[in-house]
Amino acid sequence: MREPVRWVQTNLRETDARMDPKRVVGQIADFRANVLHFSMGGIVAFYPTRVPFHYPSPYLPEGRDLMGEIVGLAHARGIRVVGRFDLSKTRKEVFDAHPEWFFRKANGDPVIYNGLYSTCINAGYYRDHAMKILSEALERYDVDGLFFNMFGNQSRDYSGTFIGHCHCDACKRRYRTLYNKELPAEPDEQYRQFMFRSSREVAEDIGKLIHAKRPNAGYFNYIQEYTDGIMSESNTAISRGLPLWPYTSSDNVNRARNSEPGKASVNLNMQFFDYAWRFATVAPGEIALRLWQAIAHGGAMAFAVNGTFDHEDRQAIEAARPVFRWAADHQEFYAGQTSAARVLLLGGSARTGRTYSQQSYRGLFRMLTEEHIPFAVADNMDWVGKRTFDLVIAADYAPAELKQYVDSGGKVLVVSPRAPELPGTPRVVRQHKDIESYFRVRDHKLFPSLQLTNLVMMDGEYSEPEPDTSAAPLTLVPPSMFGPPEKIHVDMKDSASPGIVRWQGGRVVWIPWDAAGLYYKHSLPGHAGLLRDAVAMLLPNRQIQTDAHPLVEMSLMRQGSRTLLHLVNVSGHADTAYFRPVPMRDISVELMGSFRTARLLRSNQRVPLTGKGGSVAFRIPEVVDYELVVLE
Ligand SMILES: [Zn+2]
Repeated sequence: MREPVRWVQTNLRETDARMDPKRVVGQIADFRANVLHFSMGGIVAFYPTRVPFHYPSPYLPEGRDLMGEIVGLAHARGIRVVGRFDLSKTRKEVFDAHPEWFFRKANGDPVIYNGLYSTCINAGYYRDHAMKILSEALERYDVDGLFFNMFGNQSRDYSGTFIGHCHCDACKRRYRTLYNKELPAEPDEQYRQFMFRSSREVAEDIGKLIHAKRPNAGYFNYIQEYTDGIMSESNTAISRGLPLWPYTSSDNVNRARNSEPGKASVNLNMQFFDYAWRFATVAPGEIALRLWQAIAHGGAMAFAVNGTFDHEDRQAIEAARPVFRWAADHQEFYAGQTSAARVLLLGGSARTGRTYSQQSYRGLFRMLTEEHIPFAVADNMDWVGKRTFDLVIAADYAPAELKQYVDSGGKVLVVSPRAPELPGTPRVVRQHKDIESYFRVRDHKLFPSLQLTNLVMMDGEYSEPEPDTSAAPLTLVPPSMFGPPEKIHVDMKDSASPGIVRWQGGRVVWIPWDAAGLYYKHSLPGHAGLLRDAVAMLLPNRQIQTDAHPLVEMSLMRQGSRTLLHLVNVSGHADTAYFRPVPMRDISVELMGSFRTARLLRSNQRVPLTGKGGSVAFRIPEVVDYELVVLE
């Protein structure tokens, strides 16, 4: 947390055990990485393990301790080593000796994939034997951390085949003890809680073991609980729905750093396209964009390859190399950053068990980014009473815990057909499942972005609040005829049903339909304008005023006494492609706060500042791919 992290994962094959460790560590050092995330054990061990039911790679040369050599060579060059474990599968010999340790399908069969048997998070391998394997690893090797892949039971295998949930005796017993009933035939909410609880129990035990054996080592997992570093991935998949999410790295890192400010965020930038094509690289522009976004939001710079750098497809490696080297040359600016954003965007959370609409969340995420409004993302309510914001925006859900924040004078914007759980929320008189119509703009002063239109398109769910007694600024136009052209909307009527409601003296604003999800899907100017103006009602003074193009992403961070303004050029993204970004020129920025100097690190120049009553103004001549403005 106090040092800059440039992390490279070499996700090894068992055949890589024949590698020359000097060559691999030399490549990592040349790349200017300072953390090597190296495969250690579980499915295959890369050291001569002596724990029963744990097997070194058959390709590990006799007498060779690869892990020991790697740790020694890396440490000699100032590179930390994080060992990777995958405890989710193991060999048939283990299954034959301990069938009770394994995942069972509904019909009792084990799950076998390429000869490996899936273990169960609730059975003896994970709960007991894994601790012996990890104890040996931690006692023998001076690792700086451990990472766990595929933690907990998976319902699909690598080929995407549905397996369902585990029916092993350990699961059955635990479920009966905890809930006094049998395992459900289909996973329900209670079963999901059961799995969540099961994986967190094991996660807690592993965390304790790591910290007891190696107090300075970090614990890294894809989960937030009990870990020191929250892992995530920016990845692609052949069957993933469009549109692509060009803010994936920003999203993962912003969310991790602001949901758990005490933890590191490591967002693995996956070089490969999908499981079946591990040796096919995604666009170099995509690799670079993810790296810039990660450090712009205070995360580690992280990059993952299958195998080593002696790769069949080296395009991603060569795209990441100059970015790593530049970050190394300027590393003093990439440690200990915290978000300086004064707006919070609430996402859903696995931890609270709440589901949320990803489209609504992304719609707001994109709108705030395009508007250059710095924001933090949290998927919990731990910030209440600890961190102040000028505005909290709730995508999809506004939990009752927000009451304390509103009571203390906080402002909230809720964009969702789900009614906020807040006092004063107007009664919903009717729940509309699917409306194809409009809202009418009745107050253009309140919606200056909508001067050229009287109507905003509406599609989907709408919670109709009781009619406003005062003149509502936005009201539902009930569905009317749309064809043939001779009949279009000739029967159109208006209603008093509000499309936006405000209470608590205007400090709480609720748009009771999915304007954000519609913006995400269709990018209509009506929804952009509506959301922009709704934010302006609550946030008259923004931290940043700029004429920058919407595809220049900005994040505002604090680092000690410095303020860091990151600019990431996202303009290389188009359809399914990521090209070199189009250089953005002559950007003017007005930033809240008082500063004496501004340096542009990437273009290596100072820019003059002019003071303007509580803010400073400056111009950025050009942003090619990324710029960091250091304000002091
Ligand atoms: Zn089980």
